[in-house]
Amino acid sequence: MARYTGPVCRLCRREQTKLFLKGERCYTSKCPMSKQKAAPPGAHGFGRRKQGEYLLQLREKQKARRIYGILERQFRRYFERAAKAKGVTGQYLLQLLETRLDNVVYRMGMAGSRAEARQLVRHGHFTVNGRKVNIPSFQLRAGDVVAVVETSRKSPRIQQLAEGLTRRTSPQWLQVEHEALRATVLRLPVREEIDVPVQEHLIIELYSK
Ligand code: SF4
Repeated sequence: MARYTGPVCRLCRREQTKLFLKGERCYTSKCPMSKQKAAPPGAHGFGRRKQGEYLLQLREKQKARRIYGILERQFRRYFERAAKAKGVTGQYLLQLLETRLDNVVYRMGMAGSRAEARQLVRHGHFTVNGRKVNIPSFQLRAGDVVAVVETSRKSPRIQQLAEGLTRRTSPQWLQVEHEALRATVLRLPVREEIDVPVQEHLIIELYSK
């Protein structure tokens, strides 16, 4: 599946906020966004900034896409699915994104970033309800159990991540069993539990035009 392979710090500079795309490095002083007011990419930097309703909506949508590592067409499909569902479209959109398998692997602490989670899933290191699943966008539901494949537990990177599990805090909608390297989706997250800096109503306004 196609994905963005360019420099990721550039995406943070574009959105003028930390998107936490590089794992541990994002929490260190090496993060370009924590050094100074990093200019947006391109020759004109801050000089090109304009304000306007459309631009605000576009930036929120791009921010959400970049945080979850999703390309435009797939992101629109998430919106269409959310729009058809009952309830608050913006919240349901975020719930769909949060309950992707790669995001749950990241949330449970078995990856330093969503990009790494996606790669680990692709390489077949996880099971869902006992069956191996290598599709990062696999949609999880309440009651689903995600676990590290037995044979993958010897992998140095998996072991390193497992050692750091106790230091990670997982969201309340996920029950993480550190020893078993397993997480259960207890329920769908509510908006307050989704700590992404996105104003989802602006995304809905953009797609509803
Ligand atoms: Fe963004 Fe992380 Fe790069 Fe900082 S280190 S600019 S948070 S991707």
